[in-house]
Formats: sequence, C-alpha cells, structure tokens
Amino acid sequence: MSRAGLAAFAANAKRSRGRVYSEPPPVERGEYQRDRDRIIHSTAFRRLMYKTQVFVNYEGDLYRTRLTHSLEVAQIGRSVALALRLNEPLTEAICLAHDLGHTPFGHAGQDALNACMKDYGGFEHNLQSLRVVDLLESRYAEFPGLNLMFETREGILKHCSKRNAKALGDLGTRFLERTQPGLEAQIADIADAIAYNHHDVDDGLRAGLITLRQLARQPLFGDYYRVVREKYPTLATTDRRLVYETIRRMIGAVVNDLVTNSRRNLEEAAPASIDDVRDAGRALITMSADMHERHVALKKFLNRHLYRHEKKLEMTTRVQAVLRTLFNCYMDDNSLMPNEFSDAAAGRPEAERARVVADYIAGMTDRFAFQAHERIAG
Ligand code: MG
Repeated sequence: MSRAGLAAFAANAKRSRGRVYSEPPPVERGEYQRDRDRIIHSTAFRRLMYKTQVFVNYEGDLYRTRLTHSLEVAQIGRSVALALRLNEPLTEAICLAHDLGHTPFGHAGQDALNACMKDYGGFEHNLQSLRVVDLLESRYAEFPGLNLMFETREGILKHCSKRNAKALGDLGTRFLERTQPGLEAQIADIADAIAYNHHDVDDGLRAGLITLRQLARQPLFGDYYRVVREKYPTLATTDRRLVYETIRRMIGAVVNDLVTNSRRNLEEAAPASIDDVRDAGRALITMSADMHERHVALKKFLNRHLYRHEKKLEMTTRVQAVLRTLFNCYMDDNSLMPNEFSDAAAGRPEAERARVVADYIAGMTDRFAFQAHERIAG
C-alpha cells in the first residue's frame, strides 16, 4: 500500500499524464479533488438540474434529473472506489462529469441532435461531455475548458466512434487499440448503469408506467421483493416502503457483488500499475456472471416498458420536433444564437457552423429549449 493508502494499481496524480496546460500544483487538496471542484463549479454542471434523465422536468418534481442522477452515480462510485482502495476523488470527478454533454430531453434529445448532425460528423453525448470540459466551459483566462487531468478526461470519454477517436490523439488511442481505461473510469461506467437501473424502477413506479405486479416477476427486483414481503408481512402492498426496502437491498446486493467480484479479478490479474490495468485485455471492474445477467434482464425490462412506453414515445416525438426546428432555424440564421456562438459560426464552413449550433443546443436545459422554440417558431 502506498503512502496515501491507495492500491498500486489506482490512479495516482504523481504518475499521471497530467493536464494539457501545465499549472502550479494545488494547495491543501489533490489534483483530482481540484478536478472535482472545477466540475462542480462549472455552468454545465448546474444546468444538469434542469435536464431530463428519463422524465421531462415539468412532469413532476420528484423524478430524477441529470443532476440527481449524477449525484447517485458518484455516491455509488465512491463506495466502490473506497472499498477497492482506488482513487475516490478521481472516481467522484468522473461520475459527476459523465453526463455534462447531455442534450435537453434525455435520450430523445440526443437522438434528435444526432440525426440533425448526420451529415456533419454526428453527435455523441460522451464526446460532447469531453468537449464541455476541454473546450466549451469558459472560465479561465489562461486556457479553454477546465484543463482536467488525463485520467479524468479518459473516464469521461466512455465510448467513442473510431472515426472520432482518431482525431483525439492520446485520449482516443484506447478505442483504436482496444485497451481498457483506468479502474476509476471502469467504476464510473458501471456505477452509471447501476444508478439508472434502480432509480428508473422508482421513477417508473411513481409515474405509473410500470407496476409492482410486473416488477415482482423480474429478476433482481423480484428476488428482493420476496425477501421484503417475507420479512415485513404486515406492510400493505400499497405501502411505498416495500419498494424502497426492495430497491435498497437491490443496490446493496449489486454493489457488494461488484466489489467482491472485482477484488477477485484484481487478485487474479495482479496489476502492478494503472498501465497494467489498461493492458489487462479485459475490464477488471465487473459484476459476477450471475449478477450481471440479472442486472441486464432488469435493464431490458425497463427498456421495453419504460423508455419505450407509449406515453414516453409521445413526448419523444414532441421534443424531437422541437430540437429539429431549433437546429434548422439556427443553421439558417446564425444570428439567432447569442454572440459567443454566432461569432464562432461566422464565416465558417457548413460543418463547423453545424458543430457550433449543436454545442449551443446541447447546452440548453429542457425549459430553455422549449422557450427558445416558442420564441422562434411559436
Ligand atoms: Mg448517466
């Protein structure tokens, strides 16, 4: 164990590939803590409060937004990182930043913007998250973006098409050579999947799009629902505590399984450094096969019954039309955008102008997009 109590295979600021623009070291906090703090103070982070996770913001005050989702991801990620003696501030930074590039209106918005950008290189929300921290946040006099550490940026870029990876240099290499990212990035990726599987059960029930009867027949939820019913036989089936007791057991079981199984992977692979992790030939942060299967089955159920529910599809059609109209209007007349965007687009070739428009639209909150649409097309 190193001085900081970190495992040898954890990311370590002292052996980091560092920042693009060199800066004096932070005082009284680590480099990855500094990254986390920069992310929390960013404009893009505050906007997550008004961006859809699954349910559009005005549908109800209790549903997850991108902000509360990101906080839940960070909380799960930190627990796993700490249990495995990995870099907790780095894990937290990646988790908090992972959705910064998300468009308004959740996946419907991302699909719509991607379709608009079809002839201009497409739109990928992971890549957009990286654009936000590398370029679009404008807060420092000496460099664009937040100038984050390599390992933080590596973790934010979870997926990337080969075409885009080629243009990214260092950071894109792993998608071309098919190597792994550091363990903290692997944790953030799975913590994201764990968080949404569980909070979507909660939100889906609350919205009445899925029922307890359906869920009780699903793996993972059904397994723990039976445990809870047996333990508290007097709780009425309408009592919401049944759902919460079930969900917290599910999260606990999945996270414990992830830690135990990953610990086993790490013992087997015995990486001596983060570079060994990158070259391990497989992800080392994984659930057991059985748990993974149950987790995926529940995800498929949610996919079928929640994300593709006809009530959600109605909303999808509506918000996609909003984004399409905005995109076309801003392309036709760049001066409809605020100066910093219209200036960036001025005199540029069509594909570059389209990228500026996509950056502007992707940064919008749900409400702002509706208002902009109202102003332009209303
Ligand atoms: Mg997410």
